[in-house]
Amino acid sequence: MGKEIVALVDCNSFYASCEEVFNPDIIDKPVGILSNNDGIIVALSKNLKKLGVTRGTPIFKINKHLIRKNDIRIFSSNYALYGDMSARVMDTLSIFTPELEIYSIDEAFLSLKGFEYKDLTQYGREIKETVKKHVGLPVSVGIGPTKTLAKIANHFAKKHNFAEGVFDITDHPDHDKILRWTQVENIWGIGRQYAKMLRRNGITNAFEFTQAPDKWIQKKMTIVGLRTVKELRGISCLDLEKDIKPKKEIVSSKSFGNPVTDLQNLLEATSDYCTTAVKKLRSENQVASLVIVFLSTNRFKNEPQYANYAKVRLPLPSGYTPDFIHAANKILKRIYRPGYKYKKVGVMLADIIHQSKAPLDLFQPTYLDDDRKIIMDCMDDINEKMGSHKITYASSGIKKTWQMRREQLTPSYTTSWQHIPVVKAI
Ligand SMILES: [Mg+2]
Repeated sequence: MGKEIVALVDCNSFYASCEEVFNPDIIDKPVGILSNNDGIIVALSKNLKKLGVTRGTPIFKINKHLIRKNDIRIFSSNYALYGDMSARVMDTLSIFTPELEIYSIDEAFLSLKGFEYKDLTQYGREIKETVKKHVGLPVSVGIGPTKTLAKIANHFAKKHNFAEGVFDITDHPDHDKILRWTQVENIWGIGRQYAKMLRRNGITNAFEFTQAPDKWIQKKMTIVGLRTVKELRGISCLDLEKDIKPKKEIVSSKSFGNPVTDLQNLLEATSDYCTTAVKKLRSENQVASLVIVFLSTNRFKNEPQYANYAKVRLPLPSGYTPDFIHAANKILKRIYRPGYKYKKVGVMLADIIHQSKAPLDLFQPTYLDDDRKIIMDCMDDINEKMGSHKITYASSGIKKTWQMRREQLTPSYTTSWQHIPVVKAI
């Protein structure tokens, strides 16, 4: 195992830069991006920052005269555009490393382990130039032996013109000076409260922090703080998170508004929760092979108590809702006991794997290569376009008397075409 070397690549003023790609005439202008409903400034270009505007400023508080005089350009946020540009940046970055961690919409960590033979500053410049050429966006590159130091190197690269957007802090003669320049508030992972606490104790910058005794740090800031300080000292404690870990289980379960006693209602609820859980499974391109159903009475009530669960394994991993409803109903019939007031029933899917890893079977078609997948995709499409419960299963019932009380439920403003807010300007 060699030493860790990490590069943090971060897009400069990401949202504003995305707009600039498509509106080249605004490149040198002060640019601001508004929040979802155009209320406050959520992102701004360097030139707008220079005018003293900060993130979170309500648009109405910016002087009209200032806007006119400086030709400030204001945009609504276009998340479809930013998301797509982000994907292109990440694609380009993946050329430069076998291990990439997408940290946020505009930042990624690249492992450069084993690349030490290269001039890494030069390599960083190559990354920067390639992203500019492929996607049109400016980035800064910080390189260091740990993620926390790479963050600092990146911050330094952004703030100092001579670095031209790329800085490698590893074994740099000014290493300690740069840590002294880094205020505690700007250390990755140090929140505002901890920064205040450190200042109260006379620690104002990253260098001073590295000199604090481990015991004291652990006592004041737990193991998390200790990890940060070790990272600042050049000992890698935070690995790259390369794969977003697939969910181990998906649970769908709700407490009933009124207790439910009869099997039919419980079957309907189970079927409904199955539908929700399996839809979630498909939306993440996964399949599952284990179904668990649980039910229970209200243990806070002074009445006869019963709780139980059981599981069924499907012959092959599936994403086909009826496979799961069938299995879940079978389980429920097995564990149901009459004469109790049930408070809750739930469905859990487990043994979840990505569709691409699903095993093939010699003797029967799998969910992924027969009509079941086509039917599900079709149903998901229709429900997405027409409203989330347009097509559903008869087994979930029609009246759904078991449903939660949701008289105060607000519309799904952002996830349903039906609920999209309508604004009238008079
Ligand atoms: Mg950024």
